[in-house]
Amino acid sequence: MPSYTAPVNDIQFVLHALLKASAQDIPGYDELEADFTAAVLEEAGKIAGNVLAPLNAVGDAEGCVLENGVVRTPSGFKDAFEQMKQGGWTALDCDPEYGGQGMPVLLGTAVGELFSGANQAFTMYQGLTHGAYSAIHAHGSDAQKAKWLPKMVSCDWTGTMNLTEPHCGTDLGLMRTKAVLQEDGSYRISGQKIFISAGDHDMSENVVHLVLAKIPGGPDGIKGVSLFIVPKFLVDDEGNIGARNGVSVGKLEEKMGIHGNSTCVMNYDEAEGYLLGQEHKGMRAMFTMMNEARLGVAMQGMAQAEAAYQNAVIYAKDRLQGRAVTGAENPDGPADPLIVHPDIRRNLLDQKSFIEGARAFMLWGAYLLDKSHRSGDAEAEGLISLLTPVLKGFLTDKGLDMTVQAQQVYGGHGYIEEWGMSQFVRDARITQIYEGANGVQALDLVGRKLAADGGKHVMGFFELVKGFIKENEGDEALKKDFLEPLKSASKDLQAAGMFFMQNGMKNPNAALAGSYDFMHLFGHVCLGLMWAQMAKAATEALASGEGDASFYETKLATGRYYMARQLPATKMHLARIESGAAPVMDLAAEAF
Ligand SMILES: Cc1cc2nc3c(=O)[nH]c(=O)nc-3n(C[C@H](O)[C@H](O)[C@H](O)COP(=O)(O)OP(=O)(O)OC[C@H]3O[C@@H](n4cnc5c(N)ncnc54)[C@H](O)[C@@H]3O)c2cc1C
Repeated sequence: MPSYTAPVNDIQFVLHALLKASAQDIPGYDELEADFTAAVLEEAGKIAGNVLAPLNAVGDAEGCVLENGVVRTPSGFKDAFEQMKQGGWTALDCDPEYGGQGMPVLLGTAVGELFSGANQAFTMYQGLTHGAYSAIHAHGSDAQKAKWLPKMVSCDWTGTMNLTEPHCGTDLGLMRTKAVLQEDGSYRISGQKIFISAGDHDMSENVVHLVLAKIPGGPDGIKGVSLFIVPKFLVDDEGNIGARNGVSVGKLEEKMGIHGNSTCVMNYDEAEGYLLGQEHKGMRAMFTMMNEARLGVAMQGMAQAEAAYQNAVIYAKDRLQGRAVTGAENPDGPADPLIVHPDIRRNLLDQKSFIEGARAFMLWGAYLLDKSHRSGDAEAEGLISLLTPVLKGFLTDKGLDMTVQAQQVYGGHGYIEEWGMSQFVRDARITQIYEGANGVQALDLVGRKLAADGGKHVMGFFELVKGFIKENEGDEALKKDFLEPLKSASKDLQAAGMFFMQNGMKNPNAALAGSYDFMHLFGHVCLGLMWAQMAKAATEALASGEGDASFYETKLATGRYYMARQLPATKMHLARIESGAAPVMDLAAEAF
């Protein structure tokens, strides 16, 4: 079975050498000293490696079972969940007023990678709870917060997000679930939601569903959607659990991966619910926590890639096949290990260079979220809003690709279930779909985010890249290997943006036909920027003579690989974008 080792050193490098977390002027960041974050990550790493990772295959094999209307989770999940609760891991970045530890999202994201990499299906139960917690925290009344949040922070009660219905996923304006106002101010919710992650299970006393529904008589379409708190069990004003609400599980979905997470059809039959935020402003309430939720899914994508990569490296060093073309490297053995072969090394370096760049991008995203929330920094808010679809779409697409590449290192042994590599692929696949399918992320990026506030945020991004290049041009090694490739890739991104500006108004299809390529082009430039910044940090660390020199040298070599072998993909994406609408739109629907 696969193993999992928390990549603490690499996370520490990003937190401290790259982001210089404890020196940042953001409330709460002064606590993020290197010793402190190392201790937290080491502890979280032990749970990830020793408790969650061994349950990953168990969850995959057993799945969840619906028995007498209640979902039973796989063996061991309940005990592990209890350990997570007791250790305070569910409360790490929650508000201390409700029992949380008040840590920045940056640390929550770093720790989340470890749990998610070890066991994505399991970690989703608390991830969904965190999403529901954030929505109530942002939009609930004081009474609602006092009633629901403490138990959700501790995960005594878990949470869900109910958007999807059988006939509407992306286009939520088609929603049919209804909410009818009662005399006491509560609502009766009726309708069916599908694909609800963690919709029911046996690990918590209550499940707090956040449900989107329409109040009859409200505006048509998406403008008439409101958000409601609908608990599985009703709760009185003292916080005691009472009668069962009109919420039931219709069925559990059979699915490709994340078997350990219960994906439920939820039936609401005149269930009692409470308006969260304002009437008809449900989407606004949902979108408040969307950046955070999408960053969480981006993290899942890269975390699966990391877990798969770790095992592929072990296998490539162990498995003896063929001889190195330049002469035997294991002359006493019957053959050389796979890792001597250039194509296997290419494969592993694709993974390694993506993962480390993606980790830096993800943690930079978490830092921007903190800067916008904790420091009220409007620039950071604009930038993370622009980058969120890139993080979600690019990291999950590439994350899946990398799990497939890791599987490939195993040859046929990657395809059979015995080695556990297929689970990484199957689990990673959902990250491209939920929390807004990736095609829709690209649409959001090109259709909305690029032009938001007159294009101010994308201009801010270009300034940031330009500023970094200018500031460091004096360093010849950095210039040749990192800054010049970054400059060239950034020019490709600008040219793509220019193409949309010149052609998108005349023919919106010219922009939308290139939106997916634009999302990937942008993702590559972001990783290029991360690698250039990490190269600078590694060079400085080497010059200081402190720390592990081989770590920094490896970092530089991995970065050079990304710049030389991955970043040139921007040229291909630009060529596709500039081919415009015709190649995509010319075929009539009947011709497909
Ligand atoms: C395992 C699992 C767990 C899930 N968990 C949850 C959950 O907890 N809560 C919840 O509410 N939902 C959940 N979902 C639902 C998920 O978020 C939706 O499946 C997703 O949003 C897509 O909706 P859909 O399936 O209806 O696809 P559709 O909206 O029908 O889209 C189908 C395809 O068309 C594309 N598309 C749609 N509209 C456009 C457009 N205008 N332009 C270009 N392309 C477009 C999409 O990108 C997609 O590829 C889950 C789904 C799964 C499978």
